[in-house]
Amino acid sequence: MYDKLIFEISSDGKTGFSLPELDVPVCDIKKIVPQNLLQEDEIKLPEVSEPEIVRHFVNLSKKNYSVDGGFYPLGSCTMKYNPKINDEVASYSGFSNLHPYAPEELSQGALRMMYELERMLCEIGGLARVTLQPAAGAHGELCGTMIIMAHFHSRGEKRDEIIIPDSAHGTNPSSAALVGMKVKTVMSNSKGEVNLEDLARLVSEKTTALMLTNPNTLGIFESQILKISDIIHKKGGLLYLDGANLNALLGITRPGDMGFDLVHFNLHKSFSTPHGCGGPGAGPLGVKEFLKEYLPVPTVEKKGESYYFDWDRKKSIGKIHGFYGNFAVLARAYAYIKTLGAKGLREVSETAILNANYLKKKLDGYYDVPFDKFCMHEFVVSGKRQKAKGVRTLDIAKRIMDYGFHPPTIYFPLIVDEALMIEPTETESVETLEQFANVLISIAEEVEKSPQIVKDAPLSLDITRLDEVTAARKPDVRYRKQ
Ligand SMILES: *Cc1c(COP(=O)(O)O)cnc(C)c1O
Repeated sequence: MYDKLIFEISSDGKTGFSLPELDVPVCDIKKIVPQNLLQEDEIKLPEVSEPEIVRHFVNLSKKNYSVDGGFYPLGSCTMKYNPKINDEVASYSGFSNLHPYAPEELSQGALRMMYELERMLCEIGGLARVTLQPAAGAHGELCGTMIIMAHFHSRGEKRDEIIIPDSAHGTNPSSAALVGMKVKTVMSNSKGEVNLEDLARLVSEKTTALMLTNPNTLGIFESQILKISDIIHKKGGLLYLDGANLNALLGITRPGDMGFDLVHFNLHKSFSTPHGCGGPGAGPLGVKEFLKEYLPVPTVEKKGESYYFDWDRKKSIGKIHGFYGNFAVLARAYAYIKTLGAKGLREVSETAILNANYLKKKLDGYYDVPFDKFCMHEFVVSGKRQKAKGVRTLDIAKRIMDYGFHPPTIYFPLIVDEALMIEPTETESVETLEQFANVLISIAEEVEKSPQIVKDAPLSLDITRLDEVTAARKPDVRYRKQ
């Protein structure tokens, strides 16, 4: 049995919506649309009633695991609960019905929201200006590397290398490669931090920047950050923060104060927008004073009591997104920051760090903890011990699903063998953390006593193990376990 496709529910003549009676003269479409643009065969669209279509999509939506449905400890992704009030603010008609071509004098509220959000992000990041345009973290990185290139170009410096740690997210080297930078990989040391000797060896007059994540993808704060900043800046290079892990720093410390010249914010991670499945995000990019002239156009400015767009910026890298970015995500972040305030934001990070350390401690002794140090908002354990019993981290992740939780991120960062990367976030209760820890402990015990169960998992879901390559290339959405 499988759920029927919408086309299989369809039967001729059913409708879910009917148009009002035509009250204008009928005209022949062939007279107004050129022949070569006309469809010859009838388009096969499903014909269903309103309750049928509602049930079809509601039932499909229930197949998806979501933050609103359960714990989602996907490391690096900050799958926190997103307060519904932020959605409500984003859907205020003054925001959601505003046309992007509406004149400035009729868009003052939206402009003010953008202006104030920029100021708040500057304050959080320790930066001079922020562009709200980038659509995601990776897009912020691209915008940042474009600005870095523009900066060196205007100084007549021919630099084309960027240094990125071996623990970095894959988007970092990709963004750099897109602007023609050559990527040099700096190694991590035994503490899981940047190896300073290796960094000093790599940095040169060709270095544009070091792109760093802090806390890094192991969930470890780069304790030598001020030294790192020195090493890069002494050679005339810049320091870029991949701000995906900002959920560990809010109100505690500021990237700008650590020496970062450019920082992107993943609003959909730290500042509360539901994400995953490719939904819209926002990756505002902030810069220090000396880089602000390169920011994309338009910027939002204030004169007296009015707000306006400034398009007249000679050194700008131009436009990097249609209109002003993913506006609804900006509105959610604005509502979220305003609701929590400075004190609340600090509590977010403190609780995120506390939750991660609590869970880490619970799992210690059952799984290998490669960097056994105080962690920030997330941590990485290794399934090495389980691998020795013939059970892989992939098997453990599949088995977690049998217990009703979303698995953590696996096999990332690449420098940890059989990695499980766990980020509980601040919105989880101690009871949930206990339940999840107990699940991982039970699985560790299963690996000892009956490893085959783990290797065959999931056993309780609609589908079992997929051939993942075939599933990605030739998806068969109808497949169900017999
Ligand atoms: C999520 C993430 C990115 C990419 O951000 P997107 O918003 O998904 O484009 C980059 N680096 C790290 C460390 C991340 O966790």
